[in-house]
Amino acid sequence: MITPPPNLQAQCPYCDTPITVHQKINPGYCGAAECLHKHAVHGDQLHRAAWLEKYEGDVAVAKERFLPEIEAQAAEAGIASDRIYVGAVPYTVTRMSPLPEDQRTAYLTHLSEITETAFASALPGAGDVKRTVDAQQGEPHPWNNAACGTCRGRCCKHQGGRYDAFQTVEHIQHMRQTRPEMSADDIIAHFTNALPEVSNEGSCVFHGPQGCVLERTDRADVCNTFRCDALERLAEDIQPDTVDAIALVSVGDAKAHDMNILMKRTE
Ligand code: SF4
Ligand code: SF4
Ligand SMILES: [Zn+2]
Repeated sequence: MITPPPNLQAQCPYCDTPITVHQKINPGYCGAAECLHKHAVHGDQLHRAAWLEKYEGDVAVAKERFLPEIEAQAAEAGIASDRIYVGAVPYTVTRMSPLPEDQRTAYLTHLSEITETAFASALPGAGDVKRTVDAQQGEPHPWNNAACGTCRGRCCKHQGGRYDAFQTVEHIQHMRQTRPEMSADDIIAHFTNALPEVSNEGSCVFHGPQGCVLERTDRADVCNTFRCDALERLAEDIQPDTVDAIALVSVGDAKAHDMNILMKRTE
C-alpha cells in the first residue's frame, strides 16, 4: 500500500483513524457508523451555535431600535428595566392579494375530500382520533401567541400547506367529536367562510394580513404544535418569575420591524 505523504494524511476527528484528505473534506470523518452519529451531533451543535449567534445579533438589533420605547412603556406600567425581557422573532414579508382561483379550488377540493372521508365512517369514540397537540406539548407558553402575531406567520409561508392548510381526515374527525352538531356541509361552510378576502401571496390559504385567521381549535395539529427556533429559544430563556414585561420584536434583513409588549399587571 502506498502511504500518502504527510501533507495528504489526516485523522478522523472522532476516532483518530487515519483518513485521506478527500475523506477529511467529504464526509469529514472515517465512515464508521459510530463516527457518523458523532458527526451528525457535531453538525447539529454547529448549526445551533450559528443560529444562537444570529439570534443574539437579532436581539441587539431589536434593542437598538426599540429599547427606549419598550422601557418607556414598561415604566408607565411601573415595571423596572431589569424586569424586561426582549426577544426576537422572524419577520414575514407580507404581500397581500385575493386568493388565486386555482389555490382556492385546490383547497376546497381537499376540504371536500377529507370531510367526505371523515363522515363516511362511524363517529369515532373519544380518544380514538390520533391527535398530537396535548399529548406531546402540553399548554403553549402564554407569550407564543404574541410572538407569532408579531412574526405574522413566517412558518405558514415557508413550511408548505399552501393548498391544504395541513388539514387531514383526523382533523375533521376530531371536529366531529368536539362539535357533533356540525354536519359535513356545516364544516365545509365553516372553513369556506373563514377564507380571508386577501391572503399572503404564496402562503397558506388562511394566512391573512395579521397571521392565521383561524381560531386555534380550528387549526391543524401541526399548526398548533410547530415551534420554530425562536419559540424554542423564548421557552428556554424566559423565566416567568423574574420577568414582568416581555417585548417581542420581528427582525429580518438585520432590521427591526414590529414590536409588541406583554406586561404583567403590577397593581
Ligand atoms: S412559530 Fe415561529 S415562524 Fe411560525 S409564526 Fe410563530 S414565531 Fe413565526
Ligand atoms: S392554518 Fe393558519 S397556522 Fe396553519 S399554516 Fe395556515 S395560516 Fe398558518
Ligand atoms: Zn472515525
